[in-house]
Amino acid sequence: MSTDETPSAPTNFIHEIIEADNISGKFGGRVHTRFPPEPNGYLHIGHAKSICLNFGTAKKYGGKCNLRFDDTNPAKEDVEYVDSIQEDVRWLGFEWDALYYASDYFEQIYQYAEQLMEKGLAYVDSSTLEEIRSQRGTLTEPGKNSKDRDRPAAENLDLFRRMRAGEFADGAYVVRAKVDMAHPNMNMRDPLLYRIRHADHHRTGDKWCIYPLYDFTHGYSDSIEQITHSICTLEFENHRPLYDWLIDVLDLYHPQQIEFARLNLTHTMMSKRKLLELVETGAVTGWDDPRMPTIAGIRRRGYTPTAMRAFCDEIGVTKFNGLTEMVVLENAVRNDLNKNAPRVMAVLKPLKVVLTNYPDGQVDELEAVNNPEDPSAGTRQVPFSRVLYIEQDDFMENPPKQFFRLAPGREVRLRWAYLITCQEAVKDPTTGEIIELRCTYDPATRGGNAPDGRKVKSTIHWVSAEHALSAEVRLYDHLFAIANVADIPDGDDWKSHLNPKSLTVVPDAKLERSLSTAQAGYRCQFERLGYFCVDKESQADKLIFNRTVTLKDDWAKIQKKGG
Ligand code: ATP
Ligand code: MG
Repeated sequence: MSTDETPSAPTNFIHEIIEADNISGKFGGRVHTRFPPEPNGYLHIGHAKSICLNFGTAKKYGGKCNLRFDDTNPAKEDVEYVDSIQEDVRWLGFEWDALYYASDYFEQIYQYAEQLMEKGLAYVDSSTLEEIRSQRGTLTEPGKNSKDRDRPAAENLDLFRRMRAGEFADGAYVVRAKVDMAHPNMNMRDPLLYRIRHADHHRTGDKWCIYPLYDFTHGYSDSIEQITHSICTLEFENHRPLYDWLIDVLDLYHPQQIEFARLNLTHTMMSKRKLLELVETGAVTGWDDPRMPTIAGIRRRGYTPTAMRAFCDEIGVTKFNGLTEMVVLENAVRNDLNKNAPRVMAVLKPLKVVLTNYPDGQVDELEAVNNPEDPSAGTRQVPFSRVLYIEQDDFMENPPKQFFRLAPGREVRLRWAYLITCQEAVKDPTTGEIIELRCTYDPATRGGNAPDGRKVKSTIHWVSAEHALSAEVRLYDHLFAIANVADIPDGDDWKSHLNPKSLTVVPDAKLERSLSTAQAGYRCQFERLGYFCVDKESQADKLIFNRTVTLKDDWAKIQKKGG
């Protein structure tokens, strides 16, 4: 499965803006985007949308895209996240033109703050955060000026330098922009620019004890990197006036901020903070738990980069927040794996079948097609012998009308093998449970067809018992039991809505011999059961498979049946 296909990057409103800018010459025909994650967690599928958009847009217009770590909050950031983010961007098939850290700009940004003070456009405020909040006003009422708002520039500069030198405790002072406490946009009411935080930063160590806030850092970072189109999510739309103001008052190079709607998916959530909580409380096994909506999680689950990019293309880019059905994501990986995943046979709930007329000790090597969707995938040999496993669900002692699989006296086709007829179901004398089927095979039907042309209504999969590999198979379902996680009322324990059946472990599935050499990450289709991949914990003597996705959307099937 190649990862080097270029995304088709369909046209969207952002591309229309870029094309208009290219015509007007606003940025001299340059296109330079950036993807700016904060390294405070692993990336999720929402970030994949932003990555595909930023890197895909640069690719489409022959431009550049930077990866920039927005690392302005020392308390929550970590190199583990920095490393995982790079791995995830590359896995999605993109490579940055340059790698930067906002912390690289701390000195430059500090200088910008001094310049603002010199111009009378920023001040050092001794108000507590509580006081600042209470003076902010409301949407209908103007705020109140801080008592320190008119502090002279020289005094501001002196205090600011002493803040930097570490003279003051956390919270003693903040730096604020001097904009307008009556501004209709609350973000313009003298927003915070700097706070004191005596904390070690994962890159700058203890060099700084004051840290610039996101809004103060972000636009300047874009400006320093000469970004043309600064693409971000809709919640930053009403931060744009501040973004523009901060750049314009210092007369700096001015990128264009453009907002788009974040991705929300049913049955999961896109919040690093909450995903971290799931990891820390042990609700999942880690950031790469295959149930997690993280890129690491879906990668371990068996999703392909191609499928992820196709998904991002399909959902498109809009200005309206919505909720995308999980099935759209699942269909993207089904489409890709249907084309590319080799087929194998595996039995999850084994039921022993003894072919009473098949010679003991004989092994027949049968030819099986690897991928009917891809003739170049060729064929393989699967061993056939007297004792087989089939799926418990493929047999019914008293079948209802619509059940065409195996039943007493009935003939079915074993995939790539023979027609068999069930003669007897053997039961455990104490429990009454069916423990074995005694069947006969028709030697004239090798390959699956009867020379007399008689038809069977069903083909089932099987594995030769003697050759079978044992494996643990992990079946996944939605992480959340409810579709719209955003609907959980505030104050509700959101974790109580986790799906208790999100993981089912099949302890002893039986797999066909050809899987003995499958390595971690290997993807295949278990015929009739779904797409699976080898888990990273899998070992030669303890194989572990993850189900990536079922073959069809079960939910849609249930809907249809229900009428
Ligand atoms: P979270 O709330 O999960 O922490 P974030 O927005 O704080 O997300 P950042 O690391 O700041 O995470 O995000 C990096 C980039 O990814 C930003 O440009 C952000 O807008 C974008 N992004 C984050 N979440 C989504 C999403 N759900 N859909 C699309 N883009 C997203
Ligand atoms: Mg953020």
